Amino acid sequence: MVTRRHFISSMLACACCVPNAQTASSVATDDTSFQILCGMRHTPTVDSIENMRAARPEAIRVIKWVANLIGVRPVFEVLAADFKRRNIAVAATRGDHRYVIYDAKWFVFEDNRVSWYSIYILAHEIGHHIYGHTHGFKPDQHQGELDADRFGGWVVARLGGRLDQALAFMPYLSEKGGKTHPPRNKRIEATRKGWLAGAPSDYRLGFPR
Ligand SMILES: [Zn+2]
Repeated sequence: MVTRRHFISSMLACACCVPNAQTASSVATDDTSFQILCGMRHTPTVDSIENMRAARPEAIRVIKWVANLIGVRPVFEVLAADFKRRNIAVAATRGDHRYVIYDAKWFVFEDNRVSWYSIYILAHEIGHHIYGHTHGFKPDQHQGELDADRFGGWVVARLGGRLDQALAFMPYLSEKGGKTHPPRNKRIEATRKGWLAGAPSDYRLGFPR
């Protein structure tokens, strides 16, 4: 069990797939400060993520799949939590640790199965870590989101998912986007490009597998 107190000293870095996000903010806490880069309708605060706890084994499995895929040791950790606002998932750091925290409401694992949209979202958050967005390397927030979307599409393709499965989460995104998150059509395009880059050539040409 990871309590909220454990995260007082953490940096909550980037919320995923969150249309209508607001601008970055820094929040001072009792012993340090953490930076929040994006949110959905409200800028997330540590109070908006509650009951952090061990992730479901299915989510842990997805994180391991992605680490194996890109050839890194399993440096990403995943936690479940209750989100007060619809941030879906966030990438966060605490010291040397890199986390993906997901909203338990949005991730339903039935019969030990993992949905493609869950894979896409978790991969999107890992994309933020890989690109360095959780360590301040995010000169343009829209581009940062598109890069993470592209990575999500690539992961789905490499794990054998179809393009429509990579795009399964798109209807939940804001059509117009917001200050930090691009409009849906751009995110679809970034995800599609990632999927095309990752899919085998026969798949790209439309042949069934
Ligand atoms: Zn994101």
